[in-house]
Amino acid sequence: MGPGSANPYAGLVRHLRATWQSGRTRPLEYRVSQLEALGRFLEEKKQDILEATALDMGKPSFEAFFTEILLCKNELNNTLNNLSYWMKDESVDKNLVTKLDSAFIRKDPYGVVLIIAPWKYPIHLLLVPLIGAIAAGNCVVIKPSEVSKNSERLVAETLSCYLDNDCFAVVTGGVQETTRLLENKFDYIFFTGSPGVGRIIMTAAAKHLTPVTLELGGKNPCYVSDSCQVQNVARRVAWGRFFNAGQTCIAPDYVLCTLEMQEKLMPALREAIVEFFGPNPKESPDFGRLVGDKEFQRVRALLGSGRVAIGGQTDEAERYIAPTVLADVLPSDPAMQEEILGPILPIVVVANMDEAIDFINARPRPLTVYAFSSDSKVVNQVLERTSSGGFCGNDTLMHFTLTSLPFGGIGNSGLGKYHGKFTFDTFSQKRGCLHRSMGLEPLNSPRYPPYSQQKLGLMMAAFEVKRRGICTLL
Ligand code: NAD
Repeated sequence: MGPGSANPYAGLVRHLRATWQSGRTRPLEYRVSQLEALGRFLEEKKQDILEATALDMGKPSFEAFFTEILLCKNELNNTLNNLSYWMKDESVDKNLVTKLDSAFIRKDPYGVVLIIAPWKYPIHLLLVPLIGAIAAGNCVVIKPSEVSKNSERLVAETLSCYLDNDCFAVVTGGVQETTRLLENKFDYIFFTGSPGVGRIIMTAAAKHLTPVTLELGGKNPCYVSDSCQVQNVARRVAWGRFFNAGQTCIAPDYVLCTLEMQEKLMPALREAIVEFFGPNPKESPDFGRLVGDKEFQRVRALLGSGRVAIGGQTDEAERYIAPTVLADVLPSDPAMQEEILGPILPIVVVANMDEAIDFINARPRPLTVYAFSSDSKVVNQVLERTSSGGFCGNDTLMHFTLTSLPFGGIGNSGLGKYHGKFTFDTFSQKRGCLHRSMGLEPLNSPRYPPYSQQKLGLMMAAFEVKRRGICTLL
């Protein structure tokens, strides 16, 4: 399969495009029927999803149920509840000349879209964009991650039994296959993954001037102020960091706090970890494993940063790394050079909030900034003076559960937003439409040549948008 040979996916993309052009995916009833079929997939394959994600990364069934099934169903039901309203044309303001005409925004599907997903939440990160793409009336090629191979197999083998195969297709494979797939022209590409691969996707999309959403990663800072309820902070941070064994793009990646707070947090974090996972987390059914050997080795190498204050135990055969907290980590340490994506929480000591904010602003803009403080002014200061895709004050991950909030990154953490109506909007082209009447020609005369000063005056009166509230001498 060399780069010169006929593209192995060209026929598939052509077939989907032909169906899209036939208009099959446009009616509301069709979209609803496919979304309901996705709901049946989630319901009937629930057990298979729990098993596949357990095999892939030891994902505890509670966590898998919550993120891969419940949150997907929420997106699905929210979409089904609102779709007919979202699809409606939106009327817009008109000028004097078009007063009697119809001006509106049509939510048009893009056409054939490509969704590429990572391995962390292998069902959720495929289905949530897919829900929006179907809702918006597109045909879709779905590319799951080859790393979470059990989930990939489940999607490849069963999704086609639920969805219309003339409109929705699963393509499996790794770098080589995806590279060939990307040679085809898509009308939209929705990618979730690392910033490095995001650049590759955007470059491939640029060849066809295809618009993209890039849901990327990075390091999410978590500032903990001196005034807070330490036990609550410890539980909320430990939950967010160690959920899915730390393999969450919005996990708090590192804590910024003063030396005094580090001293107070440490016993509280230890207590939270024991409360969650017992004295030996390796035996806990509620703590996951790293997805692969390469990932295990990469994350284990980060343990050499700062001082291991809690945890630090590893077991290569099981790809187990204990919930770990590293104290006194320096910005130059390995754990601070890359997104951790594992159960390790470094603490970097700062003198105060200003220094924490400077620290955050000196680095690429994160997917999420977290701030903990009993003083809401402190939380608001961190919100005001930093920039990130999302923000959560006094908790971790919870902003992700609201379908009403746009989710996505900025700069290095991504481009574009989704969840709830934002997903539908992402996959809809906003077509600006004006439908004029055929009559009333005298109203159009002022714009036709031969031009005159008098016609220009009439044009001004008909077209000019005046600044409101400003006194003019007219
Ligand atoms: P990845 O970028 O390695 O892979 C993602 C997808 O891209 C996979 O389907 C893979 O097959 C494909 N791919 C990989 N290399 C490619 C190449 N050279 N050309 C074309 N396609 C290629 O990411 P990953 O390891 O699966 O996930 C890790 C990253 O994803 C982290 O940075 C994490 O933060 C991010 N992430 C972001 C979100 C979010 O919602 N923003 C969610 C989960 C994960």
